[in-house]
Amino acid sequence: MTTVDLLHRVVGSEQDVFTVRHQARQLALRLGLSGHDQIRFAAALSEIGRRLLPEVGGLTVDFVLSSDDAATSDGTSGGNALSVRTSAAGPVSDDVVDAIGVTRRLVDTYEVDRSETGVVVTLTRSLPRAGPPSAADIESIRTEVTAMVAGTPLDELAEHNRQLLSTVELVQAHRDELLRVNAELSETNRGVMALYTELSTELEATNRGVVALYAELDQRTEQARAANEAKTRFLANVSHELRAPVTAIVGLVRLIRDPASDPLTTEQDDQLEFIDSSAHSLLGLVNDLLDLAKAESGKLEPTLEPVALADIFATLSGTMRAVPRSESTVLLVGEAAVPPLLTDPILLTQVLRNLVTNGLKFTPAGQVRLSASYDRGPDEVVLEVSDTGIGIPAEEQERVFEEFHQVRHPHRPAVTGTGLGLPYARRLALILGGNITLASEPGRGSTFTVRLPVGGPSIKDS
Ligand code: ADP
Repeated sequence: MTTVDLLHRVVGSEQDVFTVRHQARQLALRLGLSGHDQIRFAAALSEIGRRLLPEVGGLTVDFVLSSDDAATSDGTSGGNALSVRTSAAGPVSDDVVDAIGVTRRLVDTYEVDRSETGVVVTLTRSLPRAGPPSAADIESIRTEVTAMVAGTPLDELAEHNRQLLSTVELVQAHRDELLRVNAELSETNRGVMALYTELSTELEATNRGVVALYAELDQRTEQARAANEAKTRFLANVSHELRAPVTAIVGLVRLIRDPASDPLTTEQDDQLEFIDSSAHSLLGLVNDLLDLAKAESGKLEPTLEPVALADIFATLSGTMRAVPRSESTVLLVGEAAVPPLLTDPILLTQVLRNLVTNGLKFTPAGQVRLSASYDRGPDEVVLEVSDTGIGIPAEEQERVFEEFHQVRHPHRPAVTGTGLGLPYARRLALILGGNITLASEPGRGSTFTVRLPVGGPSIKDS
């Protein structure tokens, strides 16, 4: 930091105060301060002089130019600064020190050094960054400003008035700008408020909609549950009511056709044969319905025991022999590869029998294969019933598990059925803690996969 003394003045009268004010403004002008900053700097000095002079009777005023040699990147601090030091030799009252304090707002730094012998007030204003003036410039500024004398008090008053007017204009411009910004701000605020209100209303409406939807969903779920229960009850009741008369018909037909009974004409026998087969399929349907209704009502409790698949396979191959079949063969493989599992052997046999019977029904010529394996990860037994039959189109593959759904297949063999076998098998698999999935390709065959937990159904499954 280098400093250069610009001007030293002794101030002994009010006229001198006018002069240093004038000189302060000129120095500020020469050193590049803007019009309003010149006025601020000069006004601050003049206010200090005006207040101190009556207290001490004489002041000295020193103008100093300081230059910070270290260059800074932001271009504001560290440049050149203009300071003025006003020294008053003699005691100054607190009131006066307080009063001159207002000038701090007009400059960048304001320092008061107060001692018993007097007061030194230093004001500093940083200058626009243009590099320090040359020694020759400083000399010319100094000469010019030293030669200046204040005009008459009237001139000073006129000058003051001009400065005041310009300051008033500046204040006015600032106020106008402030008003404009305020107006803009309140406009924006209104917009934001309107948007907020609109959004809140929309949100509220959406919320209401969601709440209503949920209420409706709950209601529908409840209705669906009640309807399902009613359907199960209805099926169970109707099947139950039907079974007795159908069984009676089957019994009566058997009695009439008994060789010990009166002989029948051929036509009568044919008609009775027809009644017998119809009654038998009706009985099959009624029994299937009853089974399904019982499984769905949750009243079917599995009787769990450790089961070796070999036993199930043995039972199956026994019963399969009685199933009428086309030219397909049944192959049961892999039962030895799986550990015993905790399950209900009767229900499991029913599931597998349904699937294998279906395989045989829908495989006019080919093979139906039941294979067993063990999936260590989830600790499950995997039973796959695959056939090389007519297959099931993709869009039907979930529907075949619905009650009474039968695929309309152009090559469907003339087979009997109720459309209740798969829903019943899936329901049983669920009761055993597992599930049935299906993969199929029309014309190539189907694979039904039953997965069952080795440890048996957990509490939540039952
Ligand atoms: P059902 O066999 O008594 O008609 P299911 O519920 O057992 O009733 O089967 C429903 C329908 O699914 C069958 O009618 C048939 O269209 C189809 N389906 C079942 N198993 C097979 C299979 N292995 N191959 C082809 N289609 C099948």
